Amino acid sequence: MNSILKLHVLASGSKGNCYCLQVDNNLIFVDMGVGIRKIQAFLSAIPNEAQLKKTLFITHEHFDHISGLELFARDYDCLIYAANRTLEILTGKVSGIKERVRRIRADEIVEFNGFSARAFSLSHDAVEPLGYVISAGSSIGFLTDTGCWTDAQAKALECAETLVLETNHDVEMLRNNKQYPPELKRRILSPQGHLSNNEAIGLVTTLSCNGKLKSCFFAHVSQHNNGEAHLLPLGEFCQKQFGIKTTILRQDEYREFNLN
Ligand SMILES: [Zn+2]
Ligand SMILES: [Zn+2]
Repeated sequence: MNSILKLHVLASGSKGNCYCLQVDNNLIFVDMGVGIRKIQAFLSAIPNEAQLKKTLFITHEHFDHISGLELFARDYDCLIYAANRTLEILTGKVSGIKERVRRIRADEIVEFNGFSARAFSLSHDAVEPLGYVISAGSSIGFLTDTGCWTDAQAKALECAETLVLETNHDVEMLRNNKQYPPELKRRILSPQGHLSNNEAIGLVTTLSCNGKLKSCFFAHVSQHNNGEAHLLPLGEFCQKQFGIKTTILRQDEYREFNLN
């Protein structure tokens, strides 16, 4: 049986996002918001990289999730999954990917080369944003860029042992940030914006009762409206209350984690 071996984090935050799962003979990317040099350096360090089948799941069309797509698709053979309306935008913007894109709908499960991916809707100011649960033996969920979490998302994430979860901002810190114009604050705080620390912990609490969650990565963390002073105590809370291990991801810090 296939299993998820490793999670590689190439970037996580408002300037760029890219995750890669190693699943036997697959490399499964979620978002491609990093430059080609970073991807090349990463892939050249993976043994037998050229033999591994590459698949890319795009969550939505915002720049921090697709900035590296064109050059990645130029240099590497891969299938690209996204929602229909997202694909319309991507194929209009990025040359040379038309033949390789595949549509995935919310609540659809695609099975492919020994793993499965289930998509679910997000609540974000993009045309058709999706989160994903990737399964191969175990399951890992990706939930970022959502202004709120829903019962449907929680249901989709019940099977996940691991979760990459948006903890974008501390609400008070954002409200008191004098550098941010009021419209930007309103956007981030809206139900189509980004998930706050407290909302994220609400989801962890729910999943601790109904799910299989063991490990949670705090992702898409704002460099201006959040910080360890807020996230470390929340991590301690998750560990103490639910036995869930947490890790804070940083914007451009490459990290790799063994998941099996
Ligand atoms: Zn984003
Ligand atoms: Zn976004």
